[in-house]
Amino acid sequence: MFNLDFFGGVNEIGGNKILLHHDDSKYFLDFGMSFSQANKYFSEFLQPRKTNGVLDFIEFGLLPKMKGIYREDYMKHSGLPYDRQPGVDGVFLSHAHMDHSAYINHLRYDIPIYLSEETYLILKLIEDTSRVSFTDLINLKTDFQLTPRKRMDGYKRLPRNHCQKKRKIKMMKPYKYYEVGDLKVKMVPVDHSLPGANAYLVETDDNSLVYTGDFRFHGRKPKLSQKLVKACQKLNPHIMICEGTRMLDSDSVSEKDVQQIISTKIRDYKGFVAINYPIRDLDRLLTFYNIAQEVGRELVVNLKQAYMLNLFKGKGYPDISDVAIYVPRKGWGLIDNESYAFYQDQWICSPKIDEYQIHFDYNRWERDLLNQENTINYTHIRENPAQYLFRCDFFELKELIDIKPEKGLYIRSMTEPFDEETFIDYKKVLNWLEHFNLKMFQVHASGHASGKEILEMIREINPEKVYPVHTLSSSSFQELEENDIEVIIPPLKK
Ligand SMILES: [Zn+2]
Repeated sequence: MFNLDFFGGVNEIGGNKILLHHDDSKYFLDFGMSFSQANKYFSEFLQPRKTNGVLDFIEFGLLPKMKGIYREDYMKHSGLPYDRQPGVDGVFLSHAHMDHSAYINHLRYDIPIYLSEETYLILKLIEDTSRVSFTDLINLKTDFQLTPRKRMDGYKRLPRNHCQKKRKIKMMKPYKYYEVGDLKVKMVPVDHSLPGANAYLVETDDNSLVYTGDFRFHGRKPKLSQKLVKACQKLNPHIMICEGTRMLDSDSVSEKDVQQIISTKIRDYKGFVAINYPIRDLDRLLTFYNIAQEVGRELVVNLKQAYMLNLFKGKGYPDISDVAIYVPRKGWGLIDNESYAFYQDQWICSPKIDEYQIHFDYNRWERDLLNQENTINYTHIRENPAQYLFRCDFFELKELIDIKPEKGLYIRSMTEPFDEETFIDYKKVLNWLEHFNLKMFQVHASGHASGKEILEMIREINPEKVYPVHTLSSSSFQELEENDIEVIIPPLKK
């Protein structure tokens, strides 16, 4: 028999943390962050303290109060016991969106993390490039370590990079059954708004279960999700844990629609065009790359997106040599010939300063990219605005000050603002657009199937029980009772 505990993802979108017990085995299905819960108590400058380990998170139910699962440095630093053996046998990650994976930072290194290759690469991207705390997703960098001083008595702190422990990463191949403890587990790829998203099929001698993760049928790879339906029909599962983000919608704008609508919109437009889309959605990047080709412009991406394209080299996405890489002015801003630095008794212009010095303005992971031949900066776009399709996310709005567009379009290809936090940022975007005389145009294809598609899919699979997760519309699943499918809205465990 399976037992399920839901520590997140019930009656909320995201925060999936589902504990699956079977006899003596215990596995988590995802271990994500609940944005809605976290935003209830915290904000950008009011963050959980690392010095309190996991306790600030547990205080508000953001992390489960469970023994034996959290990392040693956090536990010991807070004076809490650290068990010799982990309290769970592993975590299966459906995909690398934060609301499914972010909190693995807090887990001990010896809990195996099962994932796809692409999920691994995105977690690596986040770990390598993020400047925020709590991003030990692949390597656990031990905090709170001391070492004896060399010449005098006492101790000094060790930098956290000094002691790294590699997590037990278990990369799974799609469609292959793995024996994991007393479970047989198969990872099945689905279409979603970032690479490497999967559902999991779990079997034991007497029971079977499907966990869908997040999925859709209208992206670039709808066949994957259709194949999942087939695989589930074959499994004939007792239990289905199914996402329901868009239960109230009955149709979807497809990735193809997005490409066609934007292409038509800007084909004859001769001015500056900025675009914004979620950086990890490489299918959307591909959409904009295709649009750029169709309308005779060059897609301009930031350093982080270029770093990601490098990680995904050879996996069906554009190469970094196919796009232009935008280098922003940072620190001393020595990349153009308009910034000066003081030397001896005069202010000199930056091209006289050697490249090595310029590199100090950039993070380590950014430096190799600066040497690429296809880098550009604001001067290129300012001079030839009609030549480019400039990716401009929230943090890049400041580049508009340097680019100085006289007017133009801003194509927003991401989810509409949905809560207080996103509305505040959205209003700021509108102010920037008004200031620079840019007209907003919104076109987006969601990462999630419509309610109509989800109900149809569940009927086709015909499980005995459905647990709705990742949804604010659990009750919309209840019409499945007519098909003799039991719908269970589980209690949230803390
Ligand atoms: Zn997702």
